[in-house]
Amino acid sequence: MIRLSSKRELPLAILALVASALLLVATTLVPPAQAATAAFDDWVESLRFEARARGVEDEQFNRIFHGVQPIDRVVELDRRQPEFSQTFWRYLDARVTPDRIEQGRTLLADNGQLLAAVQRRYHVQPRFIVAFWGLESSYGDNVGDFPLVTALATLAWEGRRSAFFREQLLDLLQLIALGDIPEDARGSWAGAFGQMQFMPSTFRAYAVDFDGDGRRDLWNSLPDIFASAANYLASIGWDGESTWGREVVLPIDFDYTVSGLERDATLAEWSARGVGTVDGSVLPSANLHASLLLPGGRNGGPALLVYRNFRKIMNWNNSLLYAVSVGHLADRFAGGSPFATPRLLDEVPMSRTQTIEMQERLQGLGFDTGGADGRVGPKTRDAIMGFQQRQALPADGYPTVALLDQLRLVQPEVTGTGYESGGGQEQGGEGQ
Ligand code: CA
Repeated sequence: MIRLSSKRELPLAILALVASALLLVATTLVPPAQAATAAFDDWVESLRFEARARGVEDEQFNRIFHGVQPIDRVVELDRRQPEFSQTFWRYLDARVTPDRIEQGRTLLADNGQLLAAVQRRYHVQPRFIVAFWGLESSYGDNVGDFPLVTALATLAWEGRRSAFFREQLLDLLQLIALGDIPEDARGSWAGAFGQMQFMPSTFRAYAVDFDGDGRRDLWNSLPDIFASAANYLASIGWDGESTWGREVVLPIDFDYTVSGLERDATLAEWSARGVGTVDGSVLPSANLHASLLLPGGRNGGPALLVYRNFRKIMNWNNSLLYAVSVGHLADRFAGGSPFATPRLLDEVPMSRTQTIEMQERLQGLGFDTGGADGRVGPKTRDAIMGFQQRQALPADGYPTVALLDQLRLVQPEVTGTGYESGGGQEQGGEGQ
């Protein structure tokens, strides 16, 4: 490729010739795949200056990006839309398995001294650190096998969130230059890596060298792995004296509209509303604030009161079901029981098409779902509650096929395709 620096030395006539030849090549001869390759190479080149500012010398930059081309599979995974929504039991059963509980208990015991040292320093209970570890990488068994630089470069060049991934890629390059991360490091297709599946920006800000060897190693050093997770949680305000939440029992005629992370009350106030523990005792009288959640709706999962730490788990991964799984797994390590709520055996997941139809019908009735994107977040849950209240149904804000049937009954003339989707993408959906 001709660089600007050599331009001035060439006679004008030759330049013109070269320019027209290049134009000819560009317009007539280059097939699309090669054009994309050229565009990617140019894009990589555009990183060089910023990478230099992050301490990456040209020689290392050339070595890291030598032969790197976008990975089609990463693009495919990034564009994938889940066909069905996650149901509570299906999600939980896949993550809080008997094997994972048993293995976690063993690892807690085997690493007791180290985890106690980490707890003294960061005030995060060992059972939570090990629960994150189990969910993120099956205790180090599954750390991802995509080449990290290439995966992040692909997402930054092509993906839907290129600004975000470009910044992650630059953070990764900086960490490589610092010697924390090897040039050929591997991780998930989305750029998370190591036994806690940190993103580069999280690593950069929160990873610690707890074994004192001068490197932050989240692939091989358990001291670094545990301490980095604990440091992250401590930094965002983890409460080392409290747990995440608890399963509760609700009275038959309970008003579900008080549920949701957007609302909270003290334990005394929940008690006054008739909320009790699963063993039939009253809630502790602590002046603790809690939100009531029905992560599987009023029939499809337990009712939970969740505390401050629950929100911290959601800072780690913005998914209600993920946060419940971390908390429940940590409880099971400590001898806690399975959820007392009977398992729903005939869970019917909503398809993406059904969810979009539900959102369109809710919008048609004047309820704001924040768009019809097939993802269920706080706005859609509130819209469902509004509709349930109008129909005098139990208002748990949970989407089900039965609810969609109710919507169809209310508006039998609507085909479900007649409404314009709202403009805004709803945030906070359960994208797992
Ligand atoms: Ca280290």
